[in-house]
Formats: sequence, structure tokens, C-alpha cells
Amino acid sequence: MSKVTGQSLKSASISVRGIVQGVGFRPFVYGLAVEHNLKGWVYNTSEDVKIEVEGETEAVEQFERELETKAPPLAHIENITIEHHPPLGYKNFEIRHSQAQEGKYQLISPDVATCQACLGELLDPEDRRYRYPFTNCTNCGPRFTIIEDMPYDRPKTTMRYFQMCPQCQAEYDNPLDRRFHAQPNACPQCGPQVELVDNQGNMVTELSPIAAASQLLKEGKIVAIKGLGGFLLACDATNDTAVKTLRHRKKRSSKPFAIMVTDIDEAKGHCDVSPEEEDLLTSPQSPIVLMKWKEDSPTSVGVSREVAPNLRFLGVMLPYTPLHHILLRDTGLPLVMTSGNLSEEPIARDNDEALRRLSGIADYFLIHNRDIYSRYDDSVAIVERGTSQLIRRARSYAPYPIRLPFEARQVLGCGAEEKNTFCLTKDQYAFLSQHIGDMENIETLEHFNSTISLYKRLFHIEPEIIAHDLHPDYLATKYARELGESGIKFVHVQHHHAHIASCMADNGLDSPVIGVAFDGTGMGADGNIWGGEFLVADYRNFRRAGHLEYLPLPGGAAAIKRPRRTAIGYILTLLGENALDHDLPVIRGADDMEIGVIKRQLERKINSPLSSSMGRLFDAISALLGIRGEIDYEGQAAVELEMAAYSSVVARRVSGEAISHAQESYPYHIVEGEGMRIVHLSDLLSAVIEDLRQGVSRGRISVKFHNTVAQMINEICHLIADETGITQVALSGGVFQNRLLLRKTVSLLESSGFQVFTHRQVPCNDGGISLGQAVIANFAV
Ligand SMILES: [Zn+2]
Ligand SMILES: [Zn+2]
Ligand SMILES: [Zn+2]
Repeated sequence: MSKVTGQSLKSASISVRGIVQGVGFRPFVYGLAVEHNLKGWVYNTSEDVKIEVEGETEAVEQFERELETKAPPLAHIENITIEHHPPLGYKNFEIRHSQAQEGKYQLISPDVATCQACLGELLDPEDRRYRYPFTNCTNCGPRFTIIEDMPYDRPKTTMRYFQMCPQCQAEYDNPLDRRFHAQPNACPQCGPQVELVDNQGNMVTELSPIAAASQLLKEGKIVAIKGLGGFLLACDATNDTAVKTLRHRKKRSSKPFAIMVTDIDEAKGHCDVSPEEEDLLTSPQSPIVLMKWKEDSPTSVGVSREVAPNLRFLGVMLPYTPLHHILLRDTGLPLVMTSGNLSEEPIARDNDEALRRLSGIADYFLIHNRDIYSRYDDSVAIVERGTSQLIRRARSYAPYPIRLPFEARQVLGCGAEEKNTFCLTKDQYAFLSQHIGDMENIETLEHFNSTISLYKRLFHIEPEIIAHDLHPDYLATKYARELGESGIKFVHVQHHHAHIASCMADNGLDSPVIGVAFDGTGMGADGNIWGGEFLVADYRNFRRAGHLEYLPLPGGAAAIKRPRRTAIGYILTLLGENALDHDLPVIRGADDMEIGVIKRQLERKINSPLSSSMGRLFDAISALLGIRGEIDYEGQAAVELEMAAYSSVVARRVSGEAISHAQESYPYHIVEGEGMRIVHLSDLLSAVIEDLRQGVSRGRISVKFHNTVAQMINEICHLIADETGITQVALSGGVFQNRLLLRKTVSLLESSGFQVFTHRQVPCNDGGISLGQAVIANFAV
């Protein structure tokens, strides 16, 4: 018997906020209370989990500590408040019914990769869920993609059509079961089922559709597979012909695909996997991780070069649903897994829609009858300098919010054009949407529109301010302007200011920074195309403190698709016609007619917008070296220029040469005045051409060019720091997806005493723009 006296009893009312619903939090609280012999109750509300416990003082204190330290793996606690009061004399501990509250909202768990316990059941022939592709529990499975409204209960999800069998219901009702209140709980008797159909919608087999699909994949067929957030297109990644066929049908000639492999050991066969990369691959988020591809590894099963042509990084992910686990094991091959869409349309979601849109791409469809409510692409991440960074933020990350360093107003940021997202702010949160896509077609605009409605409904947000880009022709800008209801305020935000504010918010900063915003295109405050920008910025304001000199882009959009035009334009503008040596690789790739057109455009200043873009400079150097004169996907010329630098590094390692060119760089010229620095590029361009004439390898020129850009950043940051006293530097914009540049820049800046901030939770590319817009609009008066 415990010697309980009035003095040693304690009682606590506790409120826990964060992701604490649908993640096994109440059973955890129940178990913890019972373990410490505490009485009271726990229940969910629309905004928190409320707990009342009483018992011995020491036990209550222990409970309070362990609430945080022992929380279930998927719980994400934002805030705990505790009040103590005299005990009320509860007789037991119970889980009470949820209570909805008007106007309140809570955070929503993203979808989560299959947990180890569920995987164990899936692979156990004795288990009732053996090979059942919809196995899940409170620690894993679909969440956000099946939620239509809150509070998160089965009738408000796409699981409402499935009535649980008595066994599933018993699991669902038992507080000590791993499936207690697991809303998507299901089994082969009562849950969703898969079916294999051909591209006319005819059922192919009634027996084991997954095994049949595996067989078709082994035969080189393309199979569309319904996953968590939409259809993925799969084929055998070791089969050149299958991969080429997929490219041809999907109209995607060389943009890299990702592969899915059975487990982490297989991933290590294909790539050099660092411990941080392993953690990320095997995390509950289970994103695609871009890692160094072991091309000639004897343990590699030989992934086709067609999967990621000309690249040295391979995007790899592990199975994240039970269906994937079974399929990968049955097939025994690495599979290409790419979004089920035609080039830049949104990912296909419903069975009918997939058959309509993808029947020209896939030979077969592995479909199922659990509806998807939200389209959700796979997330893509890299690990650089030991820290992970998202390149595409979608599955398993959204709609988890970014925590802001201030109390936010209700604002909508509509984003830019490519890789678009939107962002809604409220309280201390920025709800950045999942990756929506390139805003170039009506389907993507509809996806954008309906997802905004969903987020507004789920998080009870009615924006009072709408922020958009300066570019009047972006669909997102037009969308914003059409919401011209009375009382809503519009704020236009300069693209590169948005990039820097996004990086600041990503890092929770609230003091001014030197912002280095390098990307391809963004409309400047002066109407020119910016993209090689040094800003002094905070959330309220920005000032342009430096940039690359303005150079014309002959043909505008045509120059972006054909970097060769940019290169020839730069040579003609900076060095004159005499520099157009016909032995230059870039000239060899162009015909006389094209060169003639470029000259006329430059002379007459027709359709040759001025640009200060760093992305275009990377394009120009890539084309100049004969690496990439025309592109198939955004950023390709710059990416392949980066790859050339690694080839130099690899060659050096192999030959054992001295690292003589590791620090070499090219000259450039900074003109400073009136708080502004302009980088002139003629010296750089003529030095690169001279190296080409001397027969210096492309790899070595690429390394020198990367060194030059890093030095340029460092030098200009010093000049701005001398003027302003600011020593915090934020790096943003798509150019910083270049890992070599990022690494060199960060180490150079840090060794000169700067505090450097890069993106982590939010992409540095235009997928992060809406966050920047929303935080800036929060400070607009
Ligand atoms: Zn599980
Ligand atoms: Zn069942
Ligand atoms: Zn940008």
C-alpha cells in the first residue's frame, strides 16, 4: 500500500499542442498515466490534447517530464502548458470523447512511411495482414492525403466508405493497441483492394495483382501505380529500352528520374550513402535523396544511364507504402518511379483521371479503391555539409508549418511561376503548401486553387492580405489579382526580396541580412530581369547593394531554352565580333543564320531584355564550353557545368596529380559607388575563352569558374559588410542547388567570419518564394 497523504498529492491540468492527434498520443498518455498510477482523463479538442492527472507529487512530476521525452515518434509537440490545482479525487484514468470547438484548428500530420511493426506484419505469412497493401497504424500510413476536413476522424476522410470488420474495430477501440483510433485502419477483409487493369481499363487478373504487375515490370512494361498522393509511373530501372520508352511517352527527354529500391543496403549498392543520408532515407518522411552515384560499382545492379543522363547524382528513395514494399520485393529490381503526369501537368490522382491522362504512357495500371483527396508528389532532398535541405517539399513534409519568429497576420502568398507553392500565415505559423508545379497550364492552376481552398478550410484562415510577384503575366499573379474582393489588401513583392525573406524565415531570423539571391529569372524593381543580386534586406524592406552587370538576352525566352544564344550574346556585347572565333565549341554548335539573327537582335535591341542573372551566366559558360547549347529541362546547362567540375576532380583523384587548380579562378571587375557594386564580366569571359584556346579541360575551367563565383560572393559581401556592419549572410535562389558552389561559398564566407544561412526546410528555388512573399506582406502597412 502506498502511504498517500493529502500533502503528497498533486494535480495537473495540461494542454499539449502540435501534431498530437492521429499519432497515437492519447494511448501514450493513457499508458503513461497508468504506469505512474495517476487518475484523471485525456481528450482531443480542435486545437490541443487536454489532460488532467492527479496522484503522488513525484509521479505527477515524472509524468509531466515524460510527456515530452517519451512522446510517440510521430508526435511533434509545439507547446505544453501546465497548471496545478487541488486534487478532485478521480477514481480511474480514462480516454474521453473528442470535443470540437468552433474556429479552432490544429496541426495536421503529413503522410508517414510504413513503420517497422507494420512491415513485420506485411512480410509475415502467419499474420492476417500478410501482403495486405493498405496496412497502417497510428505510427504510419496516410494522413493528409485522405483528410477532407477536421477534426481528423474516419467520417471526414476518404476511408469513410469502408466499414471496419469486428477485428479491426476491436483494435481501433483498444487504448493499448497500436491501432487505437488509427483512422485509416483496414485489413484484407474490410479495407481497400488493389486491381490490375490494362490501359483500356480492363481487368487483367483477379489473382495477386501486385505479383502480376511485378511480372510485367520485369518484362519491360510501364506500369502506373496509385500511391499515396497520386499515380507514379514505374519501369525497370536497369532496362535501357524501358526507360527510353518511358521518356519518349512522357515527353521528358533527359530530366532525371528517381528510382525506388527495396532497402537501405540496396541503396548503398548504387550510391555513396553518408550516415546523414541514410538517416534521411530511412526516416518516417522517406524522401527521394539525391546522392553520389556509384557508376561502376561491382555491387550495383546496373541502373541505366538513361535514368539520369549526364549526371553524377542519383535520386533514390525507399518504399514508403506497403504496396511499394511488396512490389519491390516481388520484382527484385530497382524501379524508376516518377510522377504520373505528362511533362509539367500535375500528378494524376483518381482512377478515371489516370486512365484518361496516362493511357498513352502506361501499359498497365495498378489501381485501388481508396480515394486520394490531396495530390502529393514525392519530396526531394539533398544532404550538404551534414544538413538536409529540401529541393521539393511535398509528401511527408507539407502541411506541417514553418514556425515564424513573429506572430503572423492572415496572409496568402501566391508564389511565382515555376515549381510553385502557396503559403498561408496565421499565429506563429507559415503553412507552406506542398509542391504544386509549374504554373503553365489550366490543370496546375486548378490544383493550386483547390489546394488553397483546402488549407484555408483546414487551418481556418481567411487572408486579409494577398501577396504576389511583380511579374504581371504569372498565372499566380493573375490569380491573386482576380481575388479582388473588397477589404483585401494586395502587396506586390520583388522576387529576390522574397527569396531572401524565405531563407530568413526558414532559419527563424528577424534581423537584417546581406542576401545573396542567385537564380535564373525574376522581375526586378526597374523592370529588367534580375537574378545575380546582393541585397540588404529584412522582412520590411530591401535595398539592392550589388548585382551582375546587365547583359542582353537575345530572343528573351529563346535564350533561356538555348543557352548558346546567351553565350554568343555575351561575347558580342562584352568582347565584340572579333572574339567570335569559329573554333569555339559554342560557335561550332550554332549555324550562321542563328548568329546573324542574334547580331541583329542585339544591334537593334529587339526582343533582347536586359538581365543580371547568375543562372544565365552559368548557362553561358556551359554553352561556351560546348557542354550544353540547348536544354531539355530548366537548369540543365548549369547542372551539367557543375558535373564537368566533378569529372575534373575525379580525374585528378584517379591520376594522383597535384591539386594545382583547386584554388584557381578567373578575373572580374567590380565597380563600386553610391552603396552599389556592379560586377563586370568581360575579363572573366575573355579568360575562359583564352583557357579554351590553350586546350585547358572543360572540367578544370568549370572548377575555376565555380571558384570565381564563390570569391565574387565573398568579396561583395565584404564590401557590403564594410558599409553596413551586417555580418549575417543568407543564400537563396535556385543557383544554390549547385552543391559545389554552395560548399565553396559557405566555407569561404565562414572562414572570413560571416555567419551563413542556407535553406533547410524550404527549397532555395522558387518553391520557397511564397513563404518569402507571405512574411514580407505581414510587415506591409
Ligand atoms: Zn505502422
Ligand atoms: Zn478489418
Ligand atoms: Zn527565383
